[in-house]
Amino acid sequence: MSEIAHYINGTRVASTSGRSQNVFNPATGDTDKKVALASTAEVDAAVAAAKAAWPAWSKTPPLRRARILDRFKTILWERADQLAEAISAEHGKTHDDALGEVTRGLEVVEFATGAPHLLKGDFTENVGTGVDSHSVRQALGVVAGITPFNFPCMVPMWMFPVALACGNTFILKPSERDPSPSLLIAEWLTEAGLPDGVFNVVQGDKEAVDALLHNRDVKAISFVGSTPIAQYIYTTGTANGKRVQALGGAKNHMVIMPDADLDMAVNALMGAAFGSAGERCMAISVAVPVTDAVADALVAKLVPQIDALKIGPAADRASEMGPLVTRQHLDKVHGYIDAGEKEGAKVVVDGRTFRQDKQGYENGYYIGGTLLDHVTPDMSVYRDEIFGPVLSVVRRNSYQDAVDLIHSHEYANGTAVFTRDGDVARAFSQDIEVGMVGINVPIPVPMAFHSFGGWKASIFGDHHMHGMEGIRFYTRLKTTTTRWPSGQRTDPEFTMPTLG
Ligand code: NAD
Repeated sequence: MSEIAHYINGTRVASTSGRSQNVFNPATGDTDKKVALASTAEVDAAVAAAKAAWPAWSKTPPLRRARILDRFKTILWERADQLAEAISAEHGKTHDDALGEVTRGLEVVEFATGAPHLLKGDFTENVGTGVDSHSVRQALGVVAGITPFNFPCMVPMWMFPVALACGNTFILKPSERDPSPSLLIAEWLTEAGLPDGVFNVVQGDKEAVDALLHNRDVKAISFVGSTPIAQYIYTTGTANGKRVQALGGAKNHMVIMPDADLDMAVNALMGAAFGSAGERCMAISVAVPVTDAVADALVAKLVPQIDALKIGPAADRASEMGPLVTRQHLDKVHGYIDAGEKEGAKVVVDGRTFRQDKQGYENGYYIGGTLLDHVTPDMSVYRDEIFGPVLSVVRRNSYQDAVDLIHSHEYANGTAVFTRDGDVARAFSQDIEVGMVGINVPIPVPMAFHSFGGWKASIFGDHHMHGMEGIRFYTRLKTTTTRWPSGQRTDPEFTMPTLG
């Protein structure tokens, strides 16, 4: 059985911790690989390598840094298929979905190649007589990214392209469930000309995360994952003096108004609820039709489409939905449907009955798309993030009831409204207390030059990811005030300097 290693100082490094865990192929249920779980000493070695690389990297002209990222971007375009296959092999998502993830990550690399412009700074001539002032944003030092299983390529790319472009060195701690894409990324960065030690990967679990949280040389941590861990990372990281952005879980609602284009809404829901088997933090897991008539029509149109979902492995390019990531996660999602049924939800389409009969894939972690109607806010299927292909319908009688429902939920990552009414759309966009909003757009994931992030329990920290928020997160501001002796007054001044 092969072991997925770390990547430190420009090369793969076998683990010495003696700890590892199996990595499964969710499509088949087989395992022939394990991933190393780093010890604190191994994490400290990676941080030391990143610290040693930092002085030269931070002084490398921003344009030269950008050119390396530009070469990396070209490699990504050329080898997107290879990366997508590595993603699907451990995550289970379909090939096209994995390619989509690579492309969305690549867009952040494209954004980061423009960093020289964004790092230019401000200059004011004559803030006082013969006195000039300039402000620049400087890199922080060694920064770390801790990432979830559901986007093993895109989420790290929300972080490191911007961090590196700004002059930081980086430690990535990927999910232990799908760790291989991180090594391809690391090798391709080296191939693109990134100096050794600037980008490092430590594989691992809580021990590796805690080592990063407690290492004094790590200046900032970016985290994406579930809310309890996000809160832990934020609390521990900030207590240790680090800058932290920690993005957490989600429960995204889509409101369908009576005037909505229903076919458009149904198609949008199919992709948003069942794409990537619902394992997306921007998946729509709650449909909120306004009025029973809309709900009845919506459910009637959804049922045949859910029944017709093509569920299979990434190897079958016709698959629309792959398996869940692990056996444990499959059991958890089954458990939620059981609980919803017990609590009184109507199971309109039951994914628990799905059986994969494709030869060689019978033991994969498949589940069918599931539709629950008459879900109420007290049910666990509504309160908790299920992270599976389970769509709950919560019926509401007015726009205001729908908004109140959304506001009563602890999560506030994304949301959408489907309507033809401009007044409703404008009010929703302005007033809804959610970080990312779609108007007739079900998964409103901001482009790389905007920033990604939710509100409330979906984020801990002040900065969203990538775009200008990313530039601000990975830099700190310095302002220099300059006077030259030529003909200027240099006698002692004991009062607060003013313009006079
Ligand atoms: P997770 O919280 O289990 O793991 C995320 C990372 O934290 C992994 O690298 C993991 O190794 C580490 N980790 C896990 N347990 C830990 C512990 N006890 N102490 C320290 N570190 C620990 O999340 P996941 O299951 O990999 O990913 C799914 C979750 O991520 C969902 O909740 C989803 O909504 C969320 N997510 C959020 C966003 C967003 O932008 N808000 C994006 C993608 C995923």
